[in-house]
Formats: sequence, C-alpha cells, structure tokens
Amino acid sequence: MSERADNPQLTPTWLTDVAGDDLTPPAGWHLAFVALGANLDDPQQQVRAASDALGELSDSRLQRLSSLYRTAPVGVRAQPDFINAVAALHSRLPPESLLEALFAVERQFGRRREFHHAPRTLDLDLLLYDRQCIDSPRLCVPHPRMHLRAFVLVPLLEIAPGCLIPGRGPAAAWLPAVSGQAIQRLSR
Ligand code: ADP
Ligand code: MG
Repeated sequence: MSERADNPQLTPTWLTDVAGDDLTPPAGWHLAFVALGANLDDPQQQVRAASDALGELSDSRLQRLSSLYRTAPVGVRAQPDFINAVAALHSRLPPESLLEALFAVERQFGRRREFHHAPRTLDLDLLLYDRQCIDSPRLCVPHPRMHLRAFVLVPLLEIAPGCLIPGRGPAAAWLPAVSGQAIQRLSR
C-alpha cells in the first residue's frame, strides 16, 4: 500500500484541490504557504535570510520559494517599498505551533510591532495550511486578506499555479481584482 493510501486528506484529489501541483506532503506532514515581507534594513537581504530561516524550522522542510517581488506599501503610504515572496513548506507542526515558529523568526529578525501596517524588518504570514479553515483570535487561515493582495497572489501562483484558497476558489481567479496593484518581479 502506498504511503498515502490510508490518509484520505492526501489523495490525488486533495493534491489537485489545494496546490494543483506535486506539493503533496508525506503522511503525517502538512502543506503550508507562508508570505514573507520586509521594507527596512536591506529588505532583499532580509527576505533571503528569512527564507534560509524557514528552511531551518523544526519539523518542517522548505519545498519551494518564489522569486522576490517589489511592491508599494499598503495602508500607510509614506514608507519604503516592500520586498515580498511566498514559500511552500511541508511541516509536522500543528498550525498554531507553526505560527509561533514564524513569530520566533520575526523576532530573530528584530521585528517591532509598533502599529498595524508599520514598516517592518520582517513580516511572516501563514497563508494556507492544508485546506483547513481556522478562525481563532490568534490565527485566521486562509489568511483573510490574501486574495486581495497582488504581493501574495503573484508569488503564490508562481510556485503553485493551481492553488485553491478554501472558501474562495482558485487563487488565479482573484488576479483581475488586484491588477491595479503595482508589482515588479526581481531577477534572482
Ligand atoms: P499584518 O501581517 O496583517 O500586517 P501583523 O503581522 O502585525 O499584521 O499580525 C497581526 C496579528 O495577526 C498577529 O497578532 C497574529 O496573531 C494575527 N494573525 C491572524 N491570522 C494570521 C495568519 N494567518 N498569519 C499571521 N498572523 C495572523
Ligand atoms: Mg503578519
């Protein structure tokens, strides 16, 4: 029997549903997408170093990393442009523990939580965790604004073109809604 045959969450249907691509995790592991963003202190270097840190998270394996993208800030305009990327991870951590691990990486990079939408050395958001929908005070998955942000959708679709957002449908279907948001792919 194959490794996945006894786990209905990991059938080929699940694969097509969520990633549309061969990102299916092994039994006992989960597929998570994480958004990376930075706009202070050499943000390109911050995002590259943060992706290295994601590669070293306990009980997790970095599967894919998008290109880096330059985007204009959302909300508070008088601040530097952002550098954004999206990573796909396989993880054995439950979603809340994975979020805690992401916060630990943010702290390691000197994140200061001054005010909402403030400039930040590093922001890590958990976008998707398998096809789970979680709505707790600390964690909302799918990330509630991911489908409205070019800086999430464009890198996400680069690494998972068939990606589905549970409750919202194919991620690609939301691209027209963000076509007015400037985003520039940087060379690797
Ligand atoms: P934002 O990322 O929206 O700019 P913050 O990084 O300051 O804002 O996060 C604010 C709060 O959002 C955190 O306290 C965190 O607990 C909560 N949160 C809820 N869902 C998520 C998620 N999917 N990923 C990251 N943080 C989340
Ligand atoms: Mg955040």
